[in-house]
Amino acid sequence: MRKGAATAAEERKKQVKNVPDTLMEYYETLLTAFGPQRWWPARTRMEVITGAILTQNTSWTNVEKAVKRLKKARVLTPQRLFALETEALADLIRSSGYFNVKAKRLKNFLSFLFQEFDGDLNRLFAKPGLAELRARILSVNGIGPETADSILLYAGRRAEFVVDAYTKRVFSRHGLTGKAAGYDEVKGLFMDNLVRDERLFNEYHALIVRLGKDFCRPRKPLCEECPLKCFLTQ
Ligand code: SF4
Repeated sequence: MRKGAATAAEERKKQVKNVPDTLMEYYETLLTAFGPQRWWPARTRMEVITGAILTQNTSWTNVEKAVKRLKKARVLTPQRLFALETEALADLIRSSGYFNVKAKRLKNFLSFLFQEFDGDLNRLFAKPGLAELRARILSVNGIGPETADSILLYAGRRAEFVVDAYTKRVFSRHGLTGKAAGYDEVKGLFMDNLVRDERLFNEYHALIVRLGKDFCRPRKPLCEECPLKCFLTQ
């Protein structure tokens, strides 16, 4: 993190007397404004995992098209995806962009699932020791921290907070993290200050995504109409 950005964030945190309460106030304000987001928008755990891998560097609309094709082809189960040729999988997920790379990443995850857990998602997510499970998912080639945490939170219902570009933007603009803060630092803001509750993390991340899409845009954020306007100190 750059020194200036770190200092600004630390100053802001000092101004915020109680970070845990402040984070919960943000949450309650967003929940009141937007209502429950009912995430993840998927019907099965394999659909969540597939969406989490395909959503890297593309819009959700493009992911939805790919998932729809996988469903239509009746291959959206661990067994059927694993049996599919990588080229055929790449063709089915073409709309998600970087489809050859993403097909390989999905296959890498499936190889890991079959080699270590007999292809059984119940066995994978029943594994005790969240830190070790996360490390093993992260060891899969092509799975980064955001994807791993999305898989753990939304498919595995384990309490890992998911950080994305929206999270970084909102909380750096509010001075709770530095502008150049990395994934683990931003994640730590939530993990260290909130009760580790999977349902809270689920809803909180979904609300941040809604906020980022509708108000906290990269350029010209709509602060005047934003539910979090009252928390903004510049
Ligand atoms: S008040 Fe402005 S900076 Fe804060 S979250 Fe809303 S749009 Fe973003």
